[in-house]
Amino acid sequence: MGTLSIVLPAYNEELMIEETWRQLSKIMEDNNIPYELVMVDDGSKDGTWEKICSLPKDHVTGVSFSRNFGKEAAVFAGLETASGDCVAVMDCDLQHPPETLVTMYSLWKEGYEVVEGIKSSRGKESRIHKGFANLFYSLMSKAMHLDMANASDFKLMDRKVVDTILLMKERNPFFRAMSSWVGFRKTTVEYEVQERMAGDSKWSFKSLVKYAISNISSYSAAPMQLVTIAGILTFLLAVILGIQTLIRYFTGTATEGFTTVILLVLVIGSILMMSLGIIGYYVARIYEEIKGRPRFIISRTNK
Ligand code: UDP
Ligand code: MG
Repeated sequence: MGTLSIVLPAYNEELMIEETWRQLSKIMEDNNIPYELVMVDDGSKDGTWEKICSLPKDHVTGVSFSRNFGKEAAVFAGLETASGDCVAVMDCDLQHPPETLVTMYSLWKEGYEVVEGIKSSRGKESRIHKGFANLFYSLMSKAMHLDMANASDFKLMDRKVVDTILLMKERNPFFRAMSSWVGFRKTTVEYEVQERMAGDSKWSFKSLVKYAISNISSYSAAPMQLVTIAGILTFLLAVILGIQTLIRYFTGTATEGFTTVILLVLVIGSILMMSLGIIGYYVARIYEEIKGRPRFIISRTNK
């Protein structure tokens, strides 16, 4: 009764797998929590899969992707594979402190259906990274009407919630937002982001920017409305410039209007291109969704 499944996405984490397993199984056993570790190898290029296979199979379920599908896909594969009565998701680099799981589990026992981990500090990250993260979360919070500041992927969910999330069929899932969006009885737990013990962060600046844009557009059509607003502003500008040109025309200094033409061409041209870009982006996303491809492909399991 009350089995806890812990989903651990892993990409090139061969240095961490064993240590994570050791710490988690020790904590679970010390606290008498029935548990299962679901390790998802996200197409790692190192020995991650071999390390997962070497762990005792009674408490570890391993799943391996045919290539790298990204952390979101790995989390969803883990949710699909997990069989526990509640499911926790955490990074397998131990940056999410395992002790917090015990608190989360006891809150779940008290009847909470979603227990979210909230970062009390962002740990050791560069200032630029922090700045962008804050910008991203404040944009997301506004766009989604949900408070996303300090949200993370570290959370524990009841089976009901997991099944609901798995019903959502979008191709580019954003787990952090979905688990807030579904509602349910929710509470939060603060945790201190730990330092990575081994290996490096798997996110490059480029992948973070891509992640931000893709997630904002999957939860909000606000960028499309920006185009409308830009259009209105340009129209106002055009009216002012138009009046000015007409006045010049009637006062006989019309040749100077050439500047106005150039200005107009520039402004309208740039707005048009911007709008087309944004619309094109959404069309591309519709195209992606409509293709209905699987979110991930599992090539092997450890059972
Ligand atoms: N991860 C993954 N697939 C990826 C990138 C990352 O499964 O394509 C996993 C990674 O192994 C780790 C977690 O996602 O367990 C968080 O990644 P990382 O520690 O690199 O991110 P950071 O802590 O720097 O935000
Ligand atoms: Mg990490």
